[in-house]
Amino acid sequence: MRFSNLNLTTLKESPSEAEIISHQLMVRAGLIRRLASGLFTWMPLGLRVLRKVEQVVREEMNRAGALELLMPAVQPAELWQESGRWDKYGPLLLRMRDRNDREFCFGPTHEEVITDIARRELRSYKQLPVSYYQIQTKFRDEIRPRFGVMRSREFIMKDAYSFHVDQESLEKTYAVMHDAYARIFERLGLRFRIVDADSGDIGGSRSQEFHVLADSGEDAIAYSDMDNYASNVETAATLPGRPAAAATEELLKVSTPGAKTIDQLAKFLKAPAERMLKTLIVDGDSGPVALVLRGDHELNAVKAQKIAGVASPLQMSDADTIRMVTGCEPGFAGPIGLDIPVFFDHATISLSDFVCGANEVDAHFVGVNFARDLPAPITVDLRNVVTGDPVAGGKGTIDIARGIEVGHIFQLGTKYSEAMKATVQDQDGKDRVMIMGCYGIGITRIVGAAIEQNHDENGIIWPAPLAPFDVVLVPINMHRSERLAVATEALYAELQSQGLEVLLDDREARPGVKFADAELIGIPHRLVISDRGLDAGELEYRHRADSEARVLKREAALALLKN
Ligand code: ATP
Ligand code: MG
Repeated sequence: MRFSNLNLTTLKESPSEAEIISHQLMVRAGLIRRLASGLFTWMPLGLRVLRKVEQVVREEMNRAGALELLMPAVQPAELWQESGRWDKYGPLLLRMRDRNDREFCFGPTHEEVITDIARRELRSYKQLPVSYYQIQTKFRDEIRPRFGVMRSREFIMKDAYSFHVDQESLEKTYAVMHDAYARIFERLGLRFRIVDADSGDIGGSRSQEFHVLADSGEDAIAYSDMDNYASNVETAATLPGRPAAAATEELLKVSTPGAKTIDQLAKFLKAPAERMLKTLIVDGDSGPVALVLRGDHELNAVKAQKIAGVASPLQMSDADTIRMVTGCEPGFAGPIGLDIPVFFDHATISLSDFVCGANEVDAHFVGVNFARDLPAPITVDLRNVVTGDPVAGGKGTIDIARGIEVGHIFQLGTKYSEAMKATVQDQDGKDRVMIMGCYGIGITRIVGAAIEQNHDENGIIWPAPLAPFDVVLVPINMHRSERLAVATEALYAELQSQGLEVLLDDREARPGVKFADAELIGIPHRLVISDRGLDAGELEYRHRADSEARVLKREAALALLKN
């Protein structure tokens, strides 16, 4: 492709709404243009990248044995009413009416449509298992579209769905999809983690997310520094702490005027929050209960509400209840002498000589020790993991990184097939509800995520498999040298004949402008051809990630690119 034909407009400035680097660079490099909130046009250069992502995904889906189809974006309300999601999905669902006043939605996902296909097409267990996939446009009326194509309203997803006669078959396909996903993200050259996830709203059992690691990620991921363990921070388990050291201080009640929060208390006592207990009074199944954590730890509501005796969803008790159980104003609760069920977090057991509320206004205990001042507790998992925690059920310690969810695989079970009566006949001629799996990849989001991971101050650094072009060929002052123009055309043709995708910067622009654009749009290999180089039979080569250019013999440069 000749630059003059690409009609590319690169920008020095990025739009003010572009908060993160990938969004800024995608606009500046002319990959996308905004139409309205959460709606983007993929410009020719950007579309080349998108097609590369699609290609890898398509190849791996085909290899995994899935069949490609293409379902409509617009879906009739009746299907969603059958599954029960018409009312449940809420404002994320874009609803509309046709000229006959029939209701439709623009599909945010396709479980209903594929289940409808399956119940019509699949009659016998002999047709199972079967997996279908599509690469198709979704619409979700996101409450806060942002980060460009990473959280847009219209986006392209690869969604796959599998149908099975039993759980064992589902698990087999799930494993195949898991491996296909891992290969996809490896082939795309992305650093990612596979994260055990809560299956959330879609329902069903096993579910894992594929996250590209990047500081701008919306999710916090806990992973092991030593093995493949990774989990959402919310779902990562913590282990019981080590036994506490022996007591060295006397129990003492001290006056702590106005110190109601851990922060205030830490300042007042000049003691670290990790040597304090915070005691939270929450509603229980029969009367209030107390949850006790280390001062610097964060309560995990999902874990807490799973504990027998704690109300679900988790609900902090009101001030009157706190007064009733502690006998004082909120802010000074502590476990000593508390006459309600008390649940201690695993980490509290390791504390000695610690600080806790005295159930008395403006007072705390210091020098507190288990076994001596209050019974040594049986502990539970109440908090979010933090960096350095030992990995539960794995090796090493926890590191926390931010991740961008680019893929998600679920064992759906029979949620949709049951509601929509999608059955097949089994060996005995009996109707059996099919068991389903579903598997999504955010095709458009991957492009943004790849840039988040691969850029510098000058622009994008595409991983080779995603690059819109392999090589940018930059002639210096070609318009003034007939000889150079001829040599450039010859080299351009030769590179292409090697199967390389070449961008020839034939613009009548200064070299600096061309170099800056080549860096901004992130082409992996740059070749500079000049009159001086021609005399010596040399080209200047630079990889986008290198800091320096190298002068190479023409043949050496070509050989290098061939590899
Ligand atoms: P998120 O938690 O980011 O909102 P999700 O869990 O709702 O995503 P899924 O229903 O699992 O999304 O959809 C499959 C994939 O589609 C996601 O893993 C993600 O890569 C992509 N995706 C979801 N929502 C968007 C969006 N608004 N913009 C771009 N890609 C999206
Ligand atoms: Mg998801």
